[in-house]
Amino acid sequence: MSFSLFDAPPHEPSQFVGFAGNPIDRQSEQRADDSVEKALADPSARVLLVRAGRVYLKANGTGFSSYYTVTATSALAARLEHAVLLGFTPQGPVLAAPAGLDPEELPEGIKAIDYRSVYIQGLLEAPDLGILAQGASLLAWHSSHRFCSKCGQQSEMRAGGYKRLCPGCGTLHFPRTDPVAIMLTVTKDRCLLGRGPHFGPGMYSALAGFIEPGETIENAVRRETFEEAGIRLGRVVYHASQPWPFPYSLMIGCFGEALNEDITIDAELEACRWFSRDEVLAALAGTHPDGIFTPPKGAIAHTLIRAWAESA
Ligand SMILES: [Zn+2]
Repeated sequence: MSFSLFDAPPHEPSQFVGFAGNPIDRQSEQRADDSVEKALADPSARVLLVRAGRVYLKANGTGFSSYYTVTATSALAARLEHAVLLGFTPQGPVLAAPAGLDPEELPEGIKAIDYRSVYIQGLLEAPDLGILAQGASLLAWHSSHRFCSKCGQQSEMRAGGYKRLCPGCGTLHFPRTDPVAIMLTVTKDRCLLGRGPHFGPGMYSALAGFIEPGETIENAVRRETFEEAGIRLGRVVYHASQPWPFPYSLMIGCFGEALNEDITIDAELEACRWFSRDEVLAALAGTHPDGIFTPPKGAIAHTLIRAWAESA
C-alpha cells in the first residue's frame, strides 16, 4: 500500500500547532550562574508571571499581554528569587517567575487564566503562547524538583534555571521534558479515533500515551495502539510535535499503518472506532450528523486528523 502520508510533508507541520511558535533566542551556550540577575537588571527585561497552572494576563485595550516590567512585577508580589531566564527577543531578555498574589487578590485589569483556556480561546498570539509553554514548563519542573533525588537535600538553581545543583552531594539535575506519543492509526480509507471518559460529549481524538524508558517512538506508538485498541501497526512515521505545558510534556505526533481492523477496546477508552474520510471531514467541519467533532485547530491531534483526511 502506498500513500502520501508516509512521504515527508512539504511544510514542517509542527509550526502550525499551538504552543509551537516560540521565537526566543535561548542562547543556551551563554547561560551563567548570574544570568538571571543580569537579565533582571536590564531595563528592557520582560517577565511572565504564572501560578498554579495559570498565567497572569494584563488587559491592553484590544487583547491581553503576558509580560510585565521588573518594576511592575512587585504589584503582583512576584517571587523573583525563583525567576528563570527564558532567553532573548529583539526587545530584550524574557524571564518567567512565580506570581505571589492569589488569583482572588489581583488588581483591576489583571486576570489569572489557566493555560488551556489561554490556548483554546486564542488569548495570546502564537509567539507569546510558545514563550508561555517554555516558562510554565520550566517553572513547574523547578517547583516539583526542589530537593535532590539522590540525597534529599534542597538543591539550588543554576544557569538561568537550566539546571539545579545539589550542595550536599554535587549532583546536577536538568529540567525534563516527558515524551508522549500521539498517533493516528490509518488505512487508505479509514482512521481510528477514540474518546476518553473525560472528553466533552461528541469529541473523538487520536490515541496517546507516554513513551517509556528504553522504548523508541515507533515502538511506543505500536505498543499503545495495541494496548488501547488491539490494532497491530506496520509502518509508523513521525509527523509533527507540540510542546505541551501540562506540566512539561512534548507531544510527538505519528501516523501508524494498521495491519488489522478488528478493535479490542481497552478500559482506558470509553469508545473507539473506525471513521471514513467523509465522516472525518464532516467532524472537522463541525457538520457531522451525530455531532461528533475533533479537537480544535492548533491541537496536534487536529493536525494529524486533518493531514490524513486531506491526504490522497
Ligand atoms: Zn544531593
